[in-house]
Amino acid sequence: MKEKIKYKVFICFYVFCFIFIAHSFSFAQKRTYTVFFEGEDNELHVYKVNGTEPGKTLMILGGIQGDEAAGFLAADRYADISLKKGSLIVVPRANFPSILKQERKINEDMNRKFSGHDAGHYETKVVEVLKKLIKESDCLLNLHEGSGIFSEKWNSPMRNPKRFGQSIIADTAFFEDKKTGVQIDLEAMAKSVIKEVNKHITNPEHLFHFNNHGTADTDTIHKEQRGSATYYALYQCKIPAFGVESAKALPLEQKVKQHIYAINGFMDLMGIIPETPGIDLKKPELQYMIISVNDSVPMVVGTMQHLKINKGDIIEVLDMVANYKRGLSADIIGIGSGFNDMRKKFVINEETRIVAKKDYYTCGSIFLDFLPADIAKESKLSVSDSKAISILKYKLKVNETIHIVENYSHVKLKRGDKLVILDLISGKIDPSEYVVNFKGFVGNKRNNTGEDRGYIIDTSKNALMKKYSINKQDKQYYISTSLNDKEVGKLFIDF
Ligand SMILES: [Zn+2]
Repeated sequence: MKEKIKYKVFICFYVFCFIFIAHSFSFAQKRTYTVFFEGEDNELHVYKVNGTEPGKTLMILGGIQGDEAAGFLAADRYADISLKKGSLIVVPRANFPSILKQERKINEDMNRKFSGHDAGHYETKVVEVLKKLIKESDCLLNLHEGSGIFSEKWNSPMRNPKRFGQSIIADTAFFEDKKTGVQIDLEAMAKSVIKEVNKHITNPEHLFHFNNHGTADTDTIHKEQRGSATYYALYQCKIPAFGVESAKALPLEQKVKQHIYAINGFMDLMGIIPETPGIDLKKPELQYMIISVNDSVPMVVGTMQHLKINKGDIIEVLDMVANYKRGLSADIIGIGSGFNDMRKKFVINEETRIVAKKDYYTCGSIFLDFLPADIAKESKLSVSDSKAISILKYKLKVNETIHIVENYSHVKLKRGDKLVILDLISGKIDPSEYVVNFKGFVGNKRNNTGEDRGYIIDTSKNALMKKYSINKQDKQYYISTSLNDKEVGKLFIDF
């Protein structure tokens, strides 16, 4: 049962992420994501990526035959790429129904349908879209897995000129169109990429070779390829087009890598330059956490929302969604190891806050509030938004007692009391945005950010730095609270 619930939650995640990504793409103007035949089994997802500098367009076509996984898995890795120069049109899964069935075809072989116009099956409709995309491209790669290993000479039934594996295929070695004057040296292009691919292949039996199908020749052994995407691209659109074939028998990971090396080789050849990754350092922002209370159905709690629970409830942060996918952690203030509190169960005996972090940056908070004791028993869990409050409050722990104190008030302590600034209560502004600094005390000595929440402050004689006390008299200290480097509050500590 529990598994089932988790499963549902994760499905929601993916749908959410998906919508989010599609949405942000349309904003960036550098990429478009289009779904053709939405809602049909043969939905076709097309990703167009434009670099910041204009250049040539390479079309990467994967999954035209559903039992050749290396092609669509490799193409898929280019759907989210960022480019510095040039453009990509990525169709990772041209024939999605055949992928779901892990079959070469459903009604007809989609890669034999580029010469005709007969309507009827969905394959025709998809091919019509693919043809339009090919017309927008300067080069086409059709990614496949082939049986056996191609060799120019006959070696064995699995290694001979009729086999496809470990080759880059062109329909001719040199293409010349007398009418337009277009000339394309496909053999030279393929061979320069093959050289790059082969750098990564250690077994000499698995080296890639150029495979000229001579598809238009009268004596060709590959007449059926006249209906293929590459043949259409070369003879109708006059653009270079290649089939990239990894040998079916090799391990999947190797096959995918070979395709990636080939794609990268052709990108290089076309002057298409990927963006260096990791330079988009946008501010990390939590969207929501998925929290389970007493192993109940997980709840979605948005950033700055309050989850009402009962004292003593067991909380588990199952997951979170932010504008980053990696480096995320949760820290339940006052509880846990101070490292990652995600996917761990904690009994909550004090109202507190869960801080979302991306690496060491805080990126959002959700609050755990207690239901009033008299209604606690029959109340259900609920989520509410933060209230606007005009003044800050401080949540302090003196020895073992918790106090909520107003901004600019005085707190009387005896020398030797152990003080912990647990948190700020700050209404609609995330408490993590503030810096709370006990002047005369350093929490993190290696990296003094000024932030002193969570540390045990020893108030014994000579433990604090006298020069920071008010009038340097060691009798009165203060806590300074700032937001965006501007002081917005103070709390006085009197001895
Ligand atoms: Zn194939």
